[in-house]
Amino acid sequence: MNEDDAKYRSLFESTPDLVIIMDEAGLVVAVNDSVKRDLGYEPDDLIGKPLSQIMPERYRARHAAGVRRYLTSGKRNLDWRSIELPALAVDGREIPMTIAFGEFTEGGKRFFTGILRDFSAEKKMSETLAFLATAGSELADVELDYQATLRKLAETAVASVADWCTVDIVTKNGGLERLAVAHADPAKVSLARELATRYPSDANASRGPHHVVRTRSSELLTEIPPELVEASAKDARHLELLKSLGLRSYLIAPLMADGRVYGAITLVQAESGRRFTDADVPMIEELGRRAGLAINNAELHQEALEANKTLETQATELEQQTEEAQALTEELEAQTDELQNVVGELQRKTQEADASNKAKSEFLASMSHELRTPLNAIGGYVELLEMGLRGPLSDEQRADLQRIKLNHNHLLGLINDVLNFAKVSAGRLEYRIETVALDQVLKDCEAMLLPQIHAARISYSYKECGEAVLVEADREKVQQILLNILGNAIKFTPEGGALTAFCDQTDAVGRVCVKDTGIGIEPDKLEAIFEPFVQVNRAFNQPGHGAGLGLSISRSLARAMGGDLVAESEPGCGSTFTLTLPRTGHTALV
Ligand code: ADP
Repeated sequence: MNEDDAKYRSLFESTPDLVIIMDEAGLVVAVNDSVKRDLGYEPDDLIGKPLSQIMPERYRARHAAGVRRYLTSGKRNLDWRSIELPALAVDGREIPMTIAFGEFTEGGKRFFTGILRDFSAEKKMSETLAFLATAGSELADVELDYQATLRKLAETAVASVADWCTVDIVTKNGGLERLAVAHADPAKVSLARELATRYPSDANASRGPHHVVRTRSSELLTEIPPELVEASAKDARHLELLKSLGLRSYLIAPLMADGRVYGAITLVQAESGRRFTDADVPMIEELGRRAGLAINNAELHQEALEANKTLETQATELEQQTEEAQALTEELEAQTDELQNVVGELQRKTQEADASNKAKSEFLASMSHELRTPLNAIGGYVELLEMGLRGPLSDEQRADLQRIKLNHNHLLGLINDVLNFAKVSAGRLEYRIETVALDQVLKDCEAMLLPQIHAARISYSYKECGEAVLVEADREKVQQILLNILGNAIKFTPEGGALTAFCDQTDAVGRVCVKDTGIGIEPDKLEAIFEPFVQVNRAFNQPGHGAGLGLSISRSLARAMGGDLVAESEPGCGSTFTLTLPRTGHTALV
């Protein structure tokens, strides 16, 4: 061996590429050990055999024609530096190879060199990358129906990285539903569907999609052993069907996103003779993540759509409510305006009423004052005539004078009432507040009224108080009030009736009660009788008996002194009038 020979032999033996030398007839004259590693052949077994032996059947004729053409015409149809062609391994698998051809002459003979490199890893990688790129863009579209997307994904997988692809989705009740089954041959797809329906997989199986979903980790079986197929068959027919699928290798990954498992994707190699290896695991895991993300995004998108819808509904409702509120506000504003107008009107009317009341009181005060002067003159002249200063009087004249005097007194009483009322309502009365013994005032009144009581033929009883009831009041006004209510009791109690008066006290007030067994007052009139000019039983009111002002004046006086005057009654049974006044040492009631 010369030096050159030794150099080339060393290159030939140590290069990692598969180097093969053929003669003009296409027979192998030398091949290095890489052929064993890459294709499984013993180098010695190939020596003297045609190169086409390591080519898949379908390429052989074309190869032979190409060599013939080159030898006769010297024309190359291919770029010899880089030809991609699958080689046929000893076990029948096809291994993608890149081949560079060369040519040399030795001893007048032409030889050809072929340098073959296993291209499967790169090929797989580029296929995987292309697949992921397609799948990735499909999965990224959240607007799409994710179920349709996953079905398309399975088809894409079948077109590039696997013979079979199935996608299983976790259902609401925790089971698995087969969303997609893909294979190039539709007949095989229906067979697989039939299998899945007739022989549903066990949820507790120690392999397969259920297991992957449970454990959340991918599963690889490079070589499916026949024992496994037998063990997973549920009966003879099942086994037969499984075998007919010729499943050789599988890879399963969970569909995961956001810590949730949505299902599993299964890739299976069968008739192509390809197998999955550890190198394929990252690819399917990535795919599982992207598919999981697609489902997650679709869910979020759906939720967002629903939330948006809810928000829109709420916004519409809110708008409606705002409109309603605005309408209500406008209505309220209108009502407020109206109320303000009414208040203004009322104020105006009150002012008018106050002014006219004042004018009325002043008129009444001056009128009654003016009336009293001529009336007093009439009284004076009656007395003059009675005394006989104008000559002797006949009995008839005397009786007439008596009648004039009686009417004069009634008229004077009425005028005094009107004058009093005018003064009270104009607030022109003065009060001399002092400590007054109520029982004493009551006794004085009794003395004044006894003749009237006797004349009316009613009984009178006075209950002793036991102790003096002292109040803070104007003595004359208290007497005026008591004379009014005692006088009324006499007036409105028929013959044979009874009149009772008594004093008592509480912590804060001293009281005088005047009780009669008279005609009584209807409940709905109990308050009205305290209004000026109100007379309930006009029939009982004999002519000249009053103007209906007494109780109005009396209550005003009592209230002006910090007390009150109230009535209780039962029609037909009698009435009770109670005067209250602040006790000495206590503050006023009102
Ligand atoms: P007058 O006695 O001048 O009519 P008052 O103001 O004193 O006016 O009384 C008003 C009305 O109250 C009376 O007309 C009468 O109808 C009713 N009244 C007052 N006291 C009694 C009473 N003790 N019993 C029944 N009715 C009474």
